[in-house]
Amino acid sequence: MSSIKTQLQTIRTLIANFEIKYHRNPHSVQLLAVSKKQPAEKIALAYDAGQRLFGESYLQEALDKMAELHNKPDIEWHFIGPIQSNKTRKIAEHFAWVHSVCDQRIAQRLNDQRPLNLPPLNICIEINISHEATKTGISVDELNSLVDYCLALPHLRLRGLMAIPAPHDHFADQRNDFHQLAIAFQQLQQRGVSLDTLSLGMSEDFEAAISEGSTLVRIGSAIFGQRQP
Ligand SMILES: *Cc1c(COP(=O)(O)O)cnc(C)c1O
Repeated sequence: MSSIKTQLQTIRTLIANFEIKYHRNPHSVQLLAVSKKQPAEKIALAYDAGQRLFGESYLQEALDKMAELHNKPDIEWHFIGPIQSNKTRKIAEHFAWVHSVCDQRIAQRLNDQRPLNLPPLNICIEINISHEATKTGISVDELNSLVDYCLALPHLRLRGLMAIPAPHDHFADQRNDFHQLAIAFQQLQQRGVSLDTLSLGMSEDFEAAISEGSTLVRIGSAIFGQRQP
């Protein structure tokens, strides 16, 4: 058995155990396998082990691997990296989801460039929860206006929120950041915005994310091992 298959099974079992431990519904947390800086052969191994959702951060690298894996049309590709405006067309054409929307201009371009023969592009708005200058994402104060802007765009489907908090060693600190996101998510739902996705948690902190309501964990190195430089 390939180690990727073993690692995937381990992660799936952990997710199921955390759903129980934190009183989450069974299967309420999806697994996005983050395959950035990993070769197409490893994606194919994960695919053979039943994985269908893959996350990529670098457009050209992703397009190359999509071409290599064209015989697996049921892969659902998620773009999770920072978005430059000259990349929006290809992102809108080739991905099912974008987790990293953080301004109106990018949202508008993705909407305008989404091919009409495809369903609306699923998006999450990225929040910079730890207020790190080096990270992308909007602050919680800016959330309502970007939500309203995105809701008015017919070729986008706003699904929820995403964040990449600063790394913390302690579970309580990890949980505290995720809790801020969970509150923002609930406030939007209370405003009547229908959302179903809280994209939170990576290899080192997905237990804390699940404890705070994550519905989709983005896991790379714990499945595929170290990334290529
Ligand atoms: C790289 C990356 C991940 C996966 O990180 P791991 O620590 O390898 O699990 C998740 N989300 C985003 C946005 C990333 O860029």
